[in-house]
Amino acid sequence: MNPQFSSYHSPCFPLYLLRKRPSKPIHQKNTSKEETGNPEKKMYRCRACSNAIAHVGDEITVGDIPVESMHINPNGYIHEIFTVRSAFQVIITGQPVPADSWFPGYKWRFCLCAQCGHHLGWSYQPYQEETIVFFGLRRGSVKED
Ligand SMILES: [Zn+2]
Repeated sequence: MNPQFSSYHSPCFPLYLLRKRPSKPIHQKNTSKEETGNPEKKMYRCRACSNAIAHVGDEITVGDIPVESMHINPNGYIHEIFTVRSAFQVIITGQPVPADSWFPGYKWRFCLCAQCGHHLGWSYQPYQEETIVFFGLRRGSVKED
C-alpha cells in the first residue's frame, strides 16, 4: 500500500449528512473498453495520464449530498470530490471500510487509475452489499474533456 494513503485512514467528518439512500441503486460493472469507445461523449480522465475513467454526465447526488462536496479529515486535509454512478479502467483496492465514511451507510475502498496507479478517489457500496453503487472522485485528480 502506498504510504501516501495513510492519512485517509484517519477519521473523516462529513460536511453533509446522509438521511436517505439513493432511490435507485446503480449496478456498477463497467470495465469494458466499449464504454470509452464513443468519441461523442465527453470523459473524465486521470489528470496524471489522461486515461478515460468516467463519462461526463454520469454525475449523481447521493441522498442530500450534492454532486460536488468538500470533506475534511482531522489532519486538515480538504478533499473536494464529486460523485458519479460508474467508473471504468480503474482499480478498486483494499477491503471495504465502514468506518470514517463521508457517506454514512456506505463502505469505501480506494479507487486508482488502472493505467498509472494515481489515486483518483473512492468507490462506495452499502454496508450489507458487495455492489459498488457510486464513486467519489477527487477534483484535483481528474480532468474533463
Ligand atoms: Zn492515470
